Amino acid sequence: MIVIFKMIKKHQWNHLQVTITAGTLAVSLLLGLSGGTVSAATKEQPEIRAKNVIMLIPDGMSMDGTTLTRWYNGGKALALDEMASGLVRTYSADAAIADSAPAGTAFATGFKSHTGYVGVLPDQNTMPGLPKLAPGDAKKPVANIVEAARLAGKSTGIIATSEIMHATPADFSAHYPDRSNYDALSEQQVYAGMDVVLGGGATYFTPAGREDGEDLTKVIANSGYNIVKNTAELKASTSGKLWGMFADKAMANDMDRDPVKQPSIAEMTDKAIQVLSQNEEGFFLMVEGSKVDWAAHANDPIGIISEVNAFDDAVAKALAFAKADQNTLVIAATDHGNGGITIGDAGTTGTYDEEPLSTFIAPLKKAKATGEGLESKFNSKRTNIKAVMKQYYGITDLTAEEIATIKAAEKGKMNYAVGPMISKRAHIGWTTGGHTGGEVALYSYAPGGVQLTGVVENSDIAGYMASALQVDLANISKQLFVPAKTAFAAKGATVKWDARNPVVVVTKGNDTLRLPVFKNTADWNGKTVKLKGNVIHNGVQTYVPQDAVDLFS
Ligand SMILES: [Zn+2]
Repeated sequence: MIVIFKMIKKHQWNHLQVTITAGTLAVSLLLGLSGGTVSAATKEQPEIRAKNVIMLIPDGMSMDGTTLTRWYNGGKALALDEMASGLVRTYSADAAIADSAPAGTAFATGFKSHTGYVGVLPDQNTMPGLPKLAPGDAKKPVANIVEAARLAGKSTGIIATSEIMHATPADFSAHYPDRSNYDALSEQQVYAGMDVVLGGGATYFTPAGREDGEDLTKVIANSGYNIVKNTAELKASTSGKLWGMFADKAMANDMDRDPVKQPSIAEMTDKAIQVLSQNEEGFFLMVEGSKVDWAAHANDPIGIISEVNAFDDAVAKALAFAKADQNTLVIAATDHGNGGITIGDAGTTGTYDEEPLSTFIAPLKKAKATGEGLESKFNSKRTNIKAVMKQYYGITDLTAEEIATIKAAEKGKMNYAVGPMISKRAHIGWTTGGHTGGEVALYSYAPGGVQLTGVVENSDIAGYMASALQVDLANISKQLFVPAKTAFAAKGATVKWDARNPVVVVTKGNDTLRLPVFKNTADWNGKTVKLKGNVIHNGVQTYVPQDAVDLFS
């Protein structure tokens, strides 16, 4: 029996992989922090060193959606295609089918988690092969690759086409066990020290859009960001700190987008790379094509095509930069499949191998808007349904039932009404309106054309990125998330919780430290001090960066 200890030096994250007998069986032993995962990878990955890492996530992009988009484009290769290199297992700590919050947490931190949990450990690991969670580690915040890159002196950025505090971008910039707590997530993003933040969600930074009534737009502006609100402003900005707010909530699907008001994801990616690459120490950038997922939930093939193509254009930008730069690792992978989209449906059971390509593509080619974009074309009473469906979808044979469905569609749900109608005509199948549990494609490009290969865990991706950047996520977790109560008590200080816009108050003798939750600014005896990271409260306890503890002698 040959036992090869590998990866421990190369990937300084939280587990040691041991391969027994020529790569047929892989087990992981836990080192340091618990919550790591058993790696499915039986292949050793190449040693990759890169100054920069760009991770691109087409949320909810199932394989047939990618294929459909390629055929829609006439069969021409996608930018992604040359990067295809392996498979990613997407399950959560306790579920076979992942929610975006734990799936993105795995990419960002190296830990699988629980539905809704952003940047924190799960309550338990129940999926086969996962180690038991150590007592007291439930919901514990764990460092993400953005925090590690920033503390290594690199520039950092996140991009999303949804609101920027949506699950995936939040996974790379915040910690809280509830993805719907936009107040908590967006506040952390504002204080996360990132250099470029581009996406939607402007509402949630305004007093009216927040339960705590804080004016975070003002904080963003006062922190030195150039706030840009349309394509021209984005392109014209010469600032090294850039915050783009291009929509109140989510940005429009690319096919429906007003290019003057909202930049494309490729334009955002291009600009972000331009700004971040000014840093000689390098950068980390996360780019999410957020709404592939939204289209998949709605079973809307036009939305899929629109968003996969827009995402792929962003991949092309990242890849072009990496090829020219030769010091950049690019990884693209979706966090999970969605919708169970198939080319071919129940209607092609007997004819599938006789159907010309046009069976699937011709009906889709007639569409001039995604299901989402179509909503505004109907008049308020929806008396022009036949005319709109003819003009924008080329559909002239609507049934009475379909007309009734469109008429009854709720605000913001038109894609759920018309997506299945055009799918049926194009024989595009769907199995669910939810996520799916299968493997997804891994795409990668590193200096010299090197790629990551094999079947990997979503939680391994964080380790590959950390290894390439030569940062240590486990060590950063220790620096950033110290349990406040125990740490201050060890210093002989008293910790109190001031619930008003919550502040942790620590006192010892004449010294008082006030730590506002979800911020990186503290008040030390009347003087403002900036901490290495944000103060995190996870609903159970508070965690503070070590430098806050060190203020007390
Ligand atoms: Zn997702």
